[in-house]
Amino acid sequence: MLISLIIPIYNEQSGLRQFWQALNNVLCNSQYNFEVILVDDGSTDSSWQSISAITASSSKEIQIQGLRLSRNFGKEAAILAGLRQALGSAIIVLDADLQHPPALIPQMLSLWDSGKVKIVEAVKRKRQDESLLRGVGAKLYYRAFRLSSGLDMDGSSDFKLLDRQVVDQYIALPEVGRFFRGLTTWLGFSSVAIEFDPPQRQTGRSSWSISNLLNLARSTIISFSSLPLRAVTWLGGLGVLFSIGLTLQTLWYHWQGLAEEGFPTVILLILGMGSMILLGLGLIGEYIAEIYWEVKRRPTYVIA
Ligand code: UDP
Ligand code: MG
Repeated sequence: MLISLIIPIYNEQSGLRQFWQALNNVLCNSQYNFEVILVDDGSTDSSWQSISAITASSSKEIQIQGLRLSRNFGKEAAILAGLRQALGSAIIVLDADLQHPPALIPQMLSLWDSGKVKIVEAVKRKRQDESLLRGVGAKLYYRAFRLSSGLDMDGSSDFKLLDRQVVDQYIALPEVGRFFRGLTTWLGFSSVAIEFDPPQRQTGRSSWSISNLLNLARSTIISFSSLPLRAVTWLGGLGVLFSIGLTLQTLWYHWQGLAEEGFPTVILLILGMGSMILLGLGLIGEYIAEIYWEVKRRPTYVIA
């Protein structure tokens, strides 16, 4: 039986050899045949040369292919490119920086081979050591994501084994912008989780800056839920109730001859209302932007 491995790679030259050795050790001692797809997501270092060197050791039991995107399209695009290329009965996606230990692969395969589950996901027991800000941010994000979309992804990672059936469904999804973690959860199918402690990155560095992460949080919540949009309506509703109350009070004061100068009130109301309207418009704009990118129907990536 053929098992596909998909490895998104972006500027990983410093650790790629070490990663390949660790992976190869695991694959050599397995009864399955493997197809390894190394996807170079437009690296600007010598990762592609390393990938080419690794593909030279391709054999019948462990076939290795390199796939090069024409520029950096992001990890999601690299994963999709690999999934479209994969032929295996099961497909495993893992990072190239050894933060997804290849040693878990045999366990994932045996869980899948028992035939009970279509998805085996590796879940982080604790998050990797990171700053307080990132840790709290991640917690808040997962909570907001669950609240808005109803999907619980806390602790989940992109380290997953997917059955052929799941991958076919994933590929068939019509959207251009993908969120692997969220969409595989959304697709459903029976799944089982195995826990792991993500080790520290040995070499190279994570390509996720705070602004990248904020961007990801924004776009994933927007593409999975229309709740924020409805929240604007509720906010508007509250605003209406508030204005009715205030109108009655103002009229009452006026009739009683109690009307004050009220200048600060007017300023505050204008500022408050103005910013709420802008906020609402901005949020609607975010959704329009998402629609705009989707209706263009541009491909998610281009293969070089
Ligand atoms: N990666 C990619 N394209 C990108 C950024 C990252 O293919 O634009 C790959 C990267 O080479 C690694 C995996 O995605 O194999 C995870 O990236 P990283 O370690 O930077 O993320 P983190 O572990 O911090 O979530
Ligand atoms: Mg990493």
